[in-house]
Amino acid sequence: MGKIHILPDTLISQIAAGEVVERPASVVKELLENSVDAGADQCSVEVEQGGMKLIAVRDNGSGMSKEDANMAFARHATSKISNLEDLSCIRSFGFRGEALSAIASVAIVTMRTRTLESNSGWEIHYKGGKLDAENSAASPQGTEISVRNLFFNTPARKKFLKSETTELGHIISVVSHFALSHPHVGFELKHNGKTLIQVPKSSGKKERLAAIAGKDFLDFALEVEFQTPSIHIHGFVGASGASLSSKRHQYLFVNGRDVSDPMVSRAVFDAYGSRLPARSYPLFLLHIDVDPKEVDVNVHPRKLAVKFLDAQRIFRDISQAVSQALAQFQENIFSVPRAMSYEQTGRARAMPPTSATATQKSLQEAISFSQEFMKSAKRPEGLHSTTDDLPPILGQIANSYIVIHDEEGLAIVDQHAAHERILYEKFSGRAADAPQQSQPLLVPLQLDCSPQEALFLKEAISHLQSMGFEFDEWSGGTFVMRSCPAYLHKENIGKIFRDFLADMNEGEKTSRPSKPGATPNILPEKNLKSLACKAAIKFGMPLSNSEQENLIRDLRKTANNSTCPHGRPTKLLLTFDELEKRFYRRK
Ligand code: ADP
Ligand code: MG
Repeated sequence: MGKIHILPDTLISQIAAGEVVERPASVVKELLENSVDAGADQCSVEVEQGGMKLIAVRDNGSGMSKEDANMAFARHATSKISNLEDLSCIRSFGFRGEALSAIASVAIVTMRTRTLESNSGWEIHYKGGKLDAENSAASPQGTEISVRNLFFNTPARKKFLKSETTELGHIISVVSHFALSHPHVGFELKHNGKTLIQVPKSSGKKERLAAIAGKDFLDFALEVEFQTPSIHIHGFVGASGASLSSKRHQYLFVNGRDVSDPMVSRAVFDAYGSRLPARSYPLFLLHIDVDPKEVDVNVHPRKLAVKFLDAQRIFRDISQAVSQALAQFQENIFSVPRAMSYEQTGRARAMPPTSATATQKSLQEAISFSQEFMKSAKRPEGLHSTTDDLPPILGQIANSYIVIHDEEGLAIVDQHAAHERILYEKFSGRAADAPQQSQPLLVPLQLDCSPQEALFLKEAISHLQSMGFEFDEWSGGTFVMRSCPAYLHKENIGKIFRDFLADMNEGEKTSRPSKPGATPNILPEKNLKSLACKAAIKFGMPLSNSEQENLIRDLRKTANNSTCPHGRPTKLLLTFDELEKRFYRRK
């Protein structure tokens, strides 16, 4: 007997499912695509345990007849295309007829559906790719699909799932993208019974943007509207001052499909030209609507990318569309001054301080000012002398290095690297002076978080508190920072924190507390490093004598102080030995 045989159908589906269903969020994406394809204008998503226990998507779309409902779970069963010509001109999300069969092969699935014409609904149960039961059942018009115990029969895949928070984060992102690309459809997302996203149908584009990406994006958004006979580019780009240090808030929809396309990002980036600060990314939400014949959507198993027939033309059109939007703003620069301050204030919005904190702060400032003054009055010109055993500091050069007359020679300290290490040790709670002192902000900061950011912030809040941050949580994803660690510079705290949240948002970030009962230390190392980097004194920043002294004093007290948290050295030493050799005083 030969060795080659055809695989059983269920196994084929399970293998194929690997391509389509990577994680709970992929299920949510496929089900919402089907709902929108079915013409629904109201979709609700309910998940439990980050979607690992339950994902239920309900829509008020066309629904299915009994025959169609039975057919829908077969492999390659679709109502959306029938021939090769249709494939080159796809107007729906779906076209492969794979999603339902793939999902049903790796989970326990129930579907209940009813069309407008039919007066009773139909219910079907699948378990691990096998039909379990079917019966008529009462149902409103539309379709509800519940997916339980995803990957229950493929343990190897289940192992790849991350924490509940991470999986939920991906789901929030999927629903957010749908809400942005389909402003006329109402969406709702609930997790463990709590509503995380709720947007009414037929929202205005701007209203939708504010609800999902945050009101601040809207404050700095310039409208893009560009139309030729072959393309319609519309949406928003952030004014050049409103850039971010990550690619968060870059939304691209090609014919309503959420895709990422480096070519498009590049075109947008180019349009900003020199207006964009180094290492920063523009905010944008762009819809590119073209004739479906101009774009191949069949290039990625999870349909996350597309290919344009005439990529060069699209590139030019996007650059032009964005340049035009930015040019309007240039003419307007004096009437829209807010955009310029975005970079400095971050998502922060000033709120009236309480009089108690204001008085306390000015008192503290007065005390520290007089202390500084007394110290500098005693200080001889040119050299800082200090009361403790600090080595003489010769000064700062290039606004970046602090030069010290060390016991062993001439030491040069990289101010950014040094401060990064100091902050990192403090943040991770290992510094000797833990617990951290916190200081009220003169002007509390209001942070309007996206649902995903709010989730991460909530998870991290106990660790942030142990670091010295204090937050009040308001409704609707708004947090107010009342205090921050005393040793942090307050001026940029809004921007620092906004960038930090953006980082938390990217990739797989949260891990669980190490031991049950242990203080949750849910901020992973890399987020602490990134916070330290963002909050640290910058390279190129002039420092007063006392600031230089404080930095060196702190560095000397800090553990692991020879390198920054990324492993670069904090200090270079030119020893007296070395000097003698270099000057040929000694061989
Ligand atoms: P595709 O979307 O690629 O056609 P799917 O496996 O996702 O494949 O769905 C198979 C078919 O089931 C669809 O073509 C559609 O006719 C039907 N269907 C799936 N979900 C829904 C829904 N929510 N409402 C109405 N019809 C649906
Ligand atoms: Mg589909």
